Amino acid sequence: MQVQASFQEHPTGTLYLVPTPIGNLDDMTFRAIKVLKEAELICAEDTRHTRQLLNHFAIETKAISFHEHNTEQRIPELINRLKQGATLAQCSDAGMPSISDPGKELVAACIEAGIAVVPLPGANAALTALIASGLCPQPFYFYGFLERKHQQQVTELEQLKNRRETMIFYEAPHRLAKTLASMVEVFGKDRPAVLARELTKRYEEFARGSLDELLSWAKEGVRGEFVVMVAGNDHPTEEDAPTGSPLEQIKAAIEGGQSPNVAIKQVAKRLGLNRQELYRQYHQL
Ligand code: SAM
Repeated sequence: MQVQASFQEHPTGTLYLVPTPIGNLDDMTFRAIKVLKEAELICAEDTRHTRQLLNHFAIETKAISFHEHNTEQRIPELINRLKQGATLAQCSDAGMPSISDPGKELVAACIEAGIAVVPLPGANAALTALIASGLCPQPFYFYGFLERKHQQQVTELEQLKNRRETMIFYEAPHRLAKTLASMVEVFGKDRPAVLARELTKRYEEFARGSLDELLSWAKEGVRGEFVVMVAGNDHPTEEDAPTGSPLEQIKAAIEGGQSPNVAIKQVAKRLGLNRQELYRQYHQL
């Protein structure tokens, strides 16, 4: 067992994990700027990219590259500096380091060496998307990127199809339609889902609907960065299939965290009922 008191005097240095904006520079926190200014060295995924951010906030600290291709080679030298008392900051190109980004190996090496690892809160695409999705915010299951090849993707999705949690994926715009097609194939066309595009940026957009509707939308051609969120499976096995009257099923889904509109839509689809009529009945309760 190991206990880290983050803000006690340490015989060694400290590694700060610093989130950076996912689009809007105003999302940089005061603390993140302070930590980057005061660090001895910044370990950045792409130094040219991070330099623009540093220039914007008049941060003059030296930055070195730390990415998936030089992680192994960099870690011993960074641990050495930390052992000698250096304060280092690690950041990625956008959002939280280590979340679908470089960082986890350095964190593990610091913990192994008894060096304090101090995280800063800040921008993250998954959670930013989730809180405005309208899908049940918890429990949620963050998956990150799926495999790129269709068959591997389908195998991964098969393992996820009975999960009850809202699932969160990252995907590149040019692969979005193919990934949604795989999701339709495995999760079914009616599963509610949400696409969050260009979060915090000028063209931020949320597309909410069934997987099938979102696939048609994506096929028209989409640009920008996306978070894909898919509702959990609310009846993974036949025994789990909801019972009771349509209104009881709606109430149960709402109690389970679903929004009334999504619950009404799901129940209408499941039971083959008219959505408007069900909506009217629900609001007459
Ligand atoms: N570390 C980042 C975080 O904390 O969110 C994630 C980095 S990952 C390499 C990049 C992926 O995150 C993109 O492909 C996209 O799926 C998602 N993403 C990043 N910025 C986004 C934004 N502004 N809007 C929507 N999705 C975004």
